[in-house]
Amino acid sequence: MKPIDWVIVGGGAVGVTTACLLADAGFSVAILISPASPGLPEGPDDLRSYSLTPASRRILAACGIWERLAPARITPYDRLQVWDAARGATLAFDAASCGRPALAYMVEHSQLQAALQAALLARPTLSVHAATLETLRPGELCCHLQLSNGQSLAARAVAACDGGDSPVRAMVGIECEERPYPQHAVIANVRCDQPHRATARQVFLAEGPLAFLPLPDPQLFAVVWSTTPVAAQALVSASEAVFCAELGRAFDHRLGAVLASTPRLAFPLTRRHANTYSAARVVLLGDAAHQVHPLAGQGLNAGLLDAAVLAERATAAGMVGLQHPQALFQRYERQRRGEILALLAATDTLNQLFLAREPWLGWLRNAGLALTHRLEPLKRLLMAHAMGDSGDLPALARPAASELF
Ligand SMILES: Cc1cc2nc3c(=O)[nH]c(=O)nc-3n(C[C@H](O)[C@H](O)[C@H](O)COP(=O)(O)OP(=O)(O)OC[C@H]3O[C@@H](n4cnc5c(N)ncnc54)[C@H](O)[C@@H]3O)c2cc1C
Repeated sequence: MKPIDWVIVGGGAVGVTTACLLADAGFSVAILISPASPGLPEGPDDLRSYSLTPASRRILAACGIWERLAPARITPYDRLQVWDAARGATLAFDAASCGRPALAYMVEHSQLQAALQAALLARPTLSVHAATLETLRPGELCCHLQLSNGQSLAARAVAACDGGDSPVRAMVGIECEERPYPQHAVIANVRCDQPHRATARQVFLAEGPLAFLPLPDPQLFAVVWSTTPVAAQALVSASEAVFCAELGRAFDHRLGAVLASTPRLAFPLTRRHANTYSAARVVLLGDAAHQVHPLAGQGLNAGLLDAAVLAERATAAGMVGLQHPQALFQRYERQRRGEILALLAATDTLNQLFLAREPWLGWLRNAGLALTHRLEPLKRLLMAHAMGDSGDLPALARPAASELF
């Protein structure tokens, strides 16, 4: 069997972006898309939305995915407000203060899925297999893969983009540090009395952060509420009226009354980080390599940067790089691991700082928020991080000179 250059396992956003970038670089590529993806409800009740950074926008644009999103369904936001419910200090970011049009863009799950599928269909040489991976056997010259539809494939390299539970990670014996957060995330779409005015808002409550993120209708918001597992269960099973009242109270009615809500879903939150990002001819990307708390809205953004870095490294190494891909994988890991460690540390520290009950820590975080709010250069640095414009970026994620501060 003639080996394919790359087999991508997983048809989420990270998998499809990786497949498109590698195919565009001239490699032969196959992608396995599980026919029974546990996908979330789509259409009018599409509960999941992503906040995507300008860096992610550039990566998705480079492989024609961004252009396939309906412009009317992309919601840019140019302001971000964060505050501490207990002591009231507020930190506000404004894209205009550094001459940028948007801090980030909200995109609904169903819209992203449709654009990903269209991008795959537009590449007839990229072969799509509606199957899950059942077994993987790394060999000297290639990996042998057995699919659920009875087919077998041979691959010079395998990119595992198969999510936080990554079966591929387990198949090649990569260990993963795993720690559940003491919170579940409740998600819902809600209608409020007041419009969002292109602003994302997040309050830190005693049990975790609560975010109201703007959607295309000016009075509609995607809510992500991290709270104790018991409280999350109660919020999911509460009536719509009780949920709206609880939510409005928790948010201090900053957007007026919460008028209506979709049904809610709750997810356990887990921190994961693979001990190494590769073994034999297999490399991990996205949630398969690292899973972070959603409070910073950076999980998918980090996965898209993985895809861009791997594609850039693979293109530079060419076919020679695929003979012994470990060197290529190590260069990819060197570029990504430090960034991921910093992201994990920042999100964990923020989460723990706000969960802490000690009064002196409450004072410290309040003073920290208030001080940061007044320090314009520090705010610019934080904004650059939040927009994905800092760190060791792959060329296609870098802002054009005209976009810079
Ligand atoms: C409440 C919440 C809010 C979030 N908000 C944001 C946000 O605003 N911005 C952001 O950047 N991130 C956000 N995230 C994180 C983001 O959702 C994830 O980081 C991202 O979806 C990971 O993408 P992925 O492609 O790596 O994995 P996934 O989306 O999990 O895709 C993995 C795919 O692999 C498939 N698969 C698994 N096993 C196999 C197999 N054996 N064979 C074939 N296929 C297989 C699965 O079916 C799935 O389709 C949020 C997360 C949560 C929980």
